[in-house]
Amino acid sequence: MILLIVWDGLRPDMVREETTPFLFEMAGRGVVCRASHCAFPTATRINSASLTTGCYPRKHGIVDNELYVPALDAERPISCADWRALQAMADAEGGRLVDAPTLGELLRDAGKQMVSVGSGSPGTTYLTNPTVTGPIVNWAVTWPEDDETIAARLGGPLSAESDSLARNAYVLQALTEELLPRWQPDLATVWLTEPDHAQHYHGLGSPEALAALRALDEQLRHLVATAASLDDALTCFLLSDHGFDTIERVDAEPVDELRVAGLASSESADVVRASNSLYLNGAARDRLEEIVAFLLERPWLGALWVRQDLRQRAPFLQPQEAVFGGHGRSAELLLSFRWSDAANAVGVPGLMASPSSIVATHGSGSPYALNNTLIAWGAGIKAGVVSDVPCGIVDVAPTALHLLGLQPPREMDGRVLGEVLKGGPNPDSVLVRRSVREAAYPCTQGRRIQRIHYSHVACTDYIDRVTLSPPPTRDIERNEP
Ligand SMILES: [Zn+2]
Repeated sequence: MILLIVWDGLRPDMVREETTPFLFEMAGRGVVCRASHCAFPTATRINSASLTTGCYPRKHGIVDNELYVPALDAERPISCADWRALQAMADAEGGRLVDAPTLGELLRDAGKQMVSVGSGSPGTTYLTNPTVTGPIVNWAVTWPEDDETIAARLGGPLSAESDSLARNAYVLQALTEELLPRWQPDLATVWLTEPDHAQHYHGLGSPEALAALRALDEQLRHLVATAASLDDALTCFLLSDHGFDTIERVDAEPVDELRVAGLASSESADVVRASNSLYLNGAARDRLEEIVAFLLERPWLGALWVRQDLRQRAPFLQPQEAVFGGHGRSAELLLSFRWSDAANAVGVPGLMASPSSIVATHGSGSPYALNNTLIAWGAGIKAGVVSDVPCGIVDVAPTALHLLGLQPPREMDGRVLGEVLKGGPNPDSVLVRRSVREAAYPCTQGRRIQRIHYSHVACTDYIDRVTLSPPPTRDIERNEP
């Protein structure tokens, strides 16, 4: 049996012997992938879909953490945390929620069983198996929806007032007491919502975040012991969906600034921001060039991309395909906030500019947000190896399929992580290529350089970081006498 365990928002530098002793011990017995990458934008639901499809957003279509779907709501975006809104979007499109084959479907087609639990938002959990090929338990809902027996036996579902500790405990109980013994799955996904929540509200390395990690570690110890008692050929992957940055607060809500500049209407939703996506409606679409020029002057801007079909209107901009986005659901513009290597109050590096009032977040193109955790141990996995071979969340599905004796579909962006598997190549012998894609963005005082740094292994590409040089400042004018 394979367990894919996600600790939401876990940065690799937060895995320490003092706070996560069990995970630290398991990491020592398995393989630590120090150069793992998540999908961009560095947010939860995008990466939930990447985990389940082995694809980047361009192929799976969950291109942001929120999506603007005028057929459902012309005024504001839908949250991908809301599974009903996600499914309503797919229904309105007359198609699939996730545009690529999912792990659940591939396993079902091979006569294998997958089960899923998640203590994060119902949308995140739903995206781990959106065609419900096996039972799924979230703290608030179970799928199939007409099967409420599991929740009823466990005293669930939980109320909206429940905290993340209770939600984690509930879904782990559902897994260990119901789903594993009854379904004897070949693969289980376990998505736990911490340390994301504690880090958002209390900060990276805060006492609250460290307490959440200690609690997760104890839960992991119990989960692994229970799963190992049911199957002595257990393989575990412990990963996260993205890293994290501490917020450097800036008073810079993009749509508000566009309104003040007269480039967005205060009366109508002609410019709609959905996380990193900026959707332009009606007359705002005619102002694309002016909106781009305005954004390029903003000191908080960290990156900007245009949708491929609009490239002739801003030919200097990189297309969204450059960060493996660009789908029918994509906004006209995709942006991220600037970041730096500076540290927070307890010495954890990585700051990103944000108008949000919370303490820390993700979504940027910083290496601190793009570098996710990936640790594997157990059956089929090498022991005591640290790998610096670039890899990522898109590689987990193909690697899991390979371990189960299945051929991953060619359409998957990810690769089988041979260097992690017993009998596979030594990490030092794996050929790694690096590249940089650069573009010069004009602004009034000169130009800004946007660079995307990539790593490549075999046919799989990973984004290491994205930078945009600051806008040039006007020389100080001297009044000559
Ligand atoms: Zn997350």
